[in-house]
This record gives sequence, C-alpha cells and structure tokens, in this order.
Amino acid sequence: MPAANLIGLKEGQGFKTAMKVLDKGRIHIAAVAVGVAQRILRDALAYALDRKQFGQPICEFQLVQAMLADSQAEIYAAECMVIDAARRRDEGRNVSTEASCSKMFATEMCGRVADRAVQILGGSGYLSEFGIERFYRDVRLFRLYEGTTQIQQIIIARNMVRDARG
Ligand SMILES: Cc1cc2nc3c(=O)[nH]c(=O)nc-3n(C[C@H](O)[C@H](O)[C@H](O)COP(=O)(O)OP(=O)(O)OC[C@H]3O[C@@H](n4cnc5c(N)ncnc54)[C@H](O)[C@@H]3O)c2cc1C
Repeated sequence: MPAANLIGLKEGQGFKTAMKVLDKGRIHIAAVAVGVAQRILRDALAYALDRKQFGQPICEFQLVQAMLADSQAEIYAAECMVIDAARRRDEGRNVSTEASCSKMFATEMCGRVADRAVQILGGSGYLSEFGIERFYRDVRLFRLYEGTTQIQQIIIARNMVRDARG
C-alpha cells in the first residue's frame, strides 16, 4: 500500500487520527439528539395543549408542566454543550472530553425526553398512530452507536486521570 494512503500520513498516527474523526462524529450525534429531542418536546407540548381532562387542557396540570420544563431545561443544556464543543473543535483544540461529554449527555437526555413524552401522551404515547412511540424506540440507538454511553464514560474518566497526573 502506498505511504500516501497511511491514515495520518505518518506511521503510528493512524489511531490518533481515527479518534479525532470520532470526536467530530460524537458532536454530530449529540447535535442530532438535541434536534430530535426538540421535535419530540414540540409534539408533546402540542398534545398537552390540546388534550383535555377534568375540564381543562393537561398542560395546566403542574405535574405535566414539570415534565415539560425538565425536558426544556435538559435540551437547552445539551444544546449549549454541543455549541461549546463544536466551537472548541473549530478553534483546533483537543475536544476528546467535550465531544464525549456532549454525546453522552445529549443522547441520554434525548432518551429521557422521549420517555417523558410517552408519559405526557398517556396511553396515546404507547400507540403507533400518535408517532411518539416510534421516537421512543428510534432514539434508543443514539446511546449505542458512535460509542456507547459506557465507552464515553471511560474516555471522559481516562482523560481526567491522565490530565490530573500531568
Ligand atoms: C443501527 C446501527 C447503526 C450502526 N452504524 C454504525 C456505523 O455506521 N459505523 C460503525 O462503525 N458502527 C455502527 N454501528 C455499530 C455500533 O457502533 C456498535 O453497535 C456499538 O459501538 C456497540 O458495539 P457492540 O454492538 O459490539 O456492543 P458491545 O461492544 O458488545 O457492547 C455491549 C455492552 O458492553 C459494554 N461494553 C463494551 N466494552 C466495554 C468496556 N470496555 N467497558 C465497559 N463496558 C463495555 C457496552 O457499553 C454495552 O453496554 C451501528 C449499530 C447500529 C445498531
């Protein structure tokens, strides 16, 4: 194989280069998770505005509001992480920790948002015709590919230990 085909162009650099590609992919998956979570929450809010129980829309019930608010706050947190990690990467900095933190938090967050959406829709959240149960199944993948949550934990903690040792 010609030397020009070497990943990283220098022997011994291939693994490091491949890992950097994964950093970009992890920020990407985190951004996708944020976008899907926003869509799920939008659908859940629309349902809560429309659905009436005990003579009022369920969005007036404080326990439903708590689920809406928790999802909104977590989506905002993940969005901030994605923007920060992407900005650091654009500056040419090493974003191994930030990419893994963003991927882990955003994908776990998306799972919680999907779970709350099923809860807000009640029985309808379980039925395919309302669309939320599909999201609930689909977003499960985010926590698996481009490195499972456990792999992100390992990367983050290893970086912490390495940096602390200097
Ligand atoms: C729909 C879909 C699309 C995919 N697309 C791609 C793709 O485009 N490109 C690609 O390269 N791959 C892709 N994958 C593969 C995906 O990245 C892997 O499934 C994922 O990395 C997990 O690997 P695994 O399935 O071999 O599970 P395993 O590695 O067997 O993991 C099983 C469990 O063990 C845990 N585990 C494994 N190793 C450790 C460890 N060292 N310490 C602690 N816990 C550990 C995992 O976190 C998990 O909980 C895709 C998978 C799916 C389902």
